[in-house]
Amino acid sequence: MADYVGAIDQGTTSTRFMIFDHSGNEVGRHQLEHEQILPQAGWVEHNPVEIWERTSAVLQSTLNKTGLSAGDLCALGITNQRETAVVWDRNTGRPYYNAIVWQDTRTDRIASALEREGKGDTIRQKAGLPPATYFSGGKIQWILENVDGVRAAAERGDAIFGNTDTWLIWNLTGGRDGGVHCTDVTNASRTMLMNLETLDWDDELLGFFGIPRQMLPEIKPSSYTSGYGNTRGTGPLAGEVLITGDLGDQQAATVGQVCFAPGEAKNTYGTGNFMLLNTGTELIRSKAGLLSTVCYKFNDEDVVYALEGSIAVTGSAVQWLRDQLGIISGASQSEALARQVEDNGGVYFVPAFSGLFAPYWRSDARGAIVGLSRYNTNAHLARATLEAICYQSRDVIEAMEKDSGVHLEVLKVDGGVTMNELCMQIQSDVLGVDVSRPVVAETTALGAAYAAGLAVGFWKNTDELRQNWNEARHWSPQWSDDQRAEGYAKWKKAVERTLNWVD
Ligand code: ADP
Repeated sequence: MADYVGAIDQGTTSTRFMIFDHSGNEVGRHQLEHEQILPQAGWVEHNPVEIWERTSAVLQSTLNKTGLSAGDLCALGITNQRETAVVWDRNTGRPYYNAIVWQDTRTDRIASALEREGKGDTIRQKAGLPPATYFSGGKIQWILENVDGVRAAAERGDAIFGNTDTWLIWNLTGGRDGGVHCTDVTNASRTMLMNLETLDWDDELLGFFGIPRQMLPEIKPSSYTSGYGNTRGTGPLAGEVLITGDLGDQQAATVGQVCFAPGEAKNTYGTGNFMLLNTGTELIRSKAGLLSTVCYKFNDEDVVYALEGSIAVTGSAVQWLRDQLGIISGASQSEALARQVEDNGGVYFVPAFSGLFAPYWRSDARGAIVGLSRYNTNAHLARATLEAICYQSRDVIEAMEKDSGVHLEVLKVDGGVTMNELCMQIQSDVLGVDVSRPVVAETTALGAAYAAGLAVGFWKNTDELRQNWNEARHWSPQWSDDQRAEGYAKWKKAVERTLNWVD
């Protein structure tokens, strides 16, 4: 068997390709950003053709850099930004519209109408999700209703939908020349269209959004020995590799953090934050504002579910300090700036740019900076931004403990923001629990590689994967209980100020 596994991580801001060896160590990678298209307030789009071109480029350059070829890869895994919706023409390969990104709020009227019309409870019951702009269903409906000719093409079976995993698999396996149109259960569980118990598209849910079933990809396991299809020998890998792993990015990170037992959880800090708790084969319905979702399904084994706390804006609030306010020139500078002050100087920043996700689910909320006095500086705002990342995570963890009864002893973390030492110290302080970061911080790509490698026997089982997990860094709480309680109470007060803003 070939010595390596490849993983494509098609993220919100960039696409990377990584190659891993049997110990789960990185052998090589290349990463390229793509444009964030912001046509108006609340709208966020990506160009799917650019994403495919970037994917091809990172595949080729990683092979060039490492001197490896397609034949050195025993399997290929794919992980992706979830919910982001692409609709394209299967005959030409051309998208009908840009990808509508998960953060996009243009479908707020679609989401609130579902609730008003009394369909919310059915969606919560069947899909495990509250009606929200976040998920794919409303985005597909918007394209069907607003882009000329798409509805007729969808009825004919020409216009097909996919998240970016599906878009890439279709292109990698031949595109309009026989490309495979499929997805996995974790991605499908983020559309509001899949029934969590049957793991199939649900006709009643499809009816709510007016989506013809023939638009939708076939739903497969996340780790799949038969494979979704082979890469084309003439494609960017210049050789045939079987694609055997496909998971949404947060589920992939959960696998990469080896959270295979019920009660194990991870928190990923990227553009947004996503905490997933493995709940085993039991589907737990949240009463505290979390999502019920599929964690993974390996071949014909039972499906494993998760509870998820999704936060829309965490790392992207740091980007906002950089791009919109210009008070830092790079994300990592947020740490040095925040370290100039001892504390937040009374400032709380609730970055509810896309409304509030878990556990509030308030699309009427918008961002607020409160507690300002003449004394405050950029440094306090930087500190308040890092604290906001941590307080939002505390909101989610409290909800998770309520729903599951699981009390976390240690929080396993990963993602770009975890490189910020101060932020992770604050996280430990705000929670009063230890925080631990693994050696391989690229848990998302690693998880996709694990799913792909398990499918072909490159790794025998999940116990073997557990042995690859090693801690790199650990933080313990330094705040007093009083300090923690006082800070959190103020945060809750600040959150109140953001609600009922949009009519
Ligand atoms: P994604 O996969 O969502 O694109 P990444 O895991 O690559 O995200 O993380 C990128 C995010 O992390 C960006 O939003 C960036 O602002 C933030 N980030 C990166 N490094 C730091 C840092 N040292 N301090 C704070 N935020 C950071």
